[in-house]
Amino acid sequence: MDKIRLEEMVPEELLRVQREKKAVFLPIGSMEWHGPHMGMGMDTMHAERVALRLAEEIGGAVFPPLYIGTETERTEESLKRLGFSGHEKIKGMDFPANAVKSCYWPAKLFYRIVKEQVRMLRGMGFSRIVILNGHASAAQKELLGRICEEEKAEGAMLISITVLFQECGVGLGHAGLAETSIMQAVRPDAVDLEKLPPKPEPLYYKDYGIADSGGSESGFFVRHDPRDASEELGENILDYEVKRCRSILEEWMR
Ligand SMILES: [Zn+2]
Repeated sequence: MDKIRLEEMVPEELLRVQREKKAVFLPIGSMEWHGPHMGMGMDTMHAERVALRLAEEIGGAVFPPLYIGTETERTEESLKRLGFSGHEKIKGMDFPANAVKSCYWPAKLFYRIVKEQVRMLRGMGFSRIVILNGHASAAQKELLGRICEEEKAEGAMLISITVLFQECGVGLGHAGLAETSIMQAVRPDAVDLEKLPPKPEPLYYKDYGIADSGGSESGFFVRHDPRDASEELGENILDYEVKRCRSILEEWMR
């Protein structure tokens, strides 16, 4: 089988990918609190897995994933939806009760790094650059969207996979059922459900830094429960994401 990890390719192999006009995939996520039960690189490992599967199926090269992500301070409305008073100063998922802080990069620096990386990939000779984003922050999606818009004529495009798994019916959420299942499928060593209390104790958003779209209707606790996660569900979500990405890319590469 052809190599798909860019860092392992010798120049001749890189040139073949470029000659065949295959894409180079750039997985980007975050290094972010994902509950007490999951590795903080979740978003990035997720994006990398989707990229590797795409390259296996339709060809291309996968650049080593960038463990960088950006976030903004929450609005009063979003804080209230999570059970806070609305006056707290909270960035992304860095809730006051979390034991460890996330690595959120300043927006300008994030933009510069990704933009330069895209340019360098073009400089290497790739005519198609696909950013696969695994972090669901609005600010991140906006900045990556801007970069792709600016570089569009040169063949750059963005797929935010977090948007795709919303379509699977398990709810987007953060570190809940969907992401925990995906992690079990991608990197089982990075999940430890024992770190969560046993069911049926509710997992309050504020206490665990886990979120879904429930809000006040659910009593501010997680409905799409990570303790129900399974590798099988994770595989199904990944299959769905890869299929959707494939159809977007095949259309784009036509
Ligand atoms: Zn995540």
